[in-house]
Amino acid sequence: MRKNIIVAIDGYSSCGKSTLAKALAKRLAFIYIDSGAMYRAITLYFIRNNVDINTEAAVRDALNHIELNFHSRDYESHILLNGEEVSEEIRKMLVSENVSEVSANKLVRHDMVKQQQRMGKSKNIVMDGRDIGTAVFVDAQIKFFMTADPKIRAERRHKELVSKGDTATTLEEVFENLAHRDYADTTRKESPLTRAEDAIILDNTDLSQEEQLNFALKMVKPFLDSSSI
Ligand code: C5P
Repeated sequence: MRKNIIVAIDGYSSCGKSTLAKALAKRLAFIYIDSGAMYRAITLYFIRNNVDINTEAAVRDALNHIELNFHSRDYESHILLNGEEVSEEIRKMLVSENVSEVSANKLVRHDMVKQQQRMGKSKNIVMDGRDIGTAVFVDAQIKFFMTADPKIRAERRHKELVSKGDTATTLEEVFENLAHRDYADTTRKESPLTRAEDAIILDNTDLSQEEQLNFALKMVKPFLDSSSI
């Protein structure tokens, strides 16, 4: 059995996985890893370099030219694509519109899962994504599956885009994008988004961030030394 503790958080798009994951990691002094940021950074590279996702050799070649690194500042995770900080750019709609197609690619997934497993080899981590509890860390001690009302999710994501200066994208467009990504993520062939049998369901439609954190801490507590929280 693994000695380090893994908290796996999966769920639909924009239902607050990363907010909870960050807060939990901070509270527990664990490392936070945003696996979605990795797929987004790969997507950005593919867009910029016109990589044809349907050509195996092109995808392989692109992956060989990509190096991803995280650096963490106050539990905000920042991602570097070949040394360039792209954390802001990967949140933009252009990337959101293409990421599900890129992340459905088998070669891309194998590469990302390998890197993610390496990151969680010996450290205590909280990782959020779509396949963390079902593929990346099947043996994670604690798994959450997050969900929330799609309308609420779209409103939250739209607000976030506006706060970052994107006033061109409408709420309807965000809603459509979330619906499209949920559909693509749950129906793809390679490790589709699904709840692991042993995952705890967390529907946060009517929960505050503090309530979610307290609930998650209660679930994680049995796996920690009493001094850790
Ligand atoms: O979490 P976030 O919304 O940033 O993820 C962006 C996209 O990356 C998802 O819609 C999904 O297509 C893909 N993804 C994935 N597996 C993960 C994390 C993200 O396929 N573990």
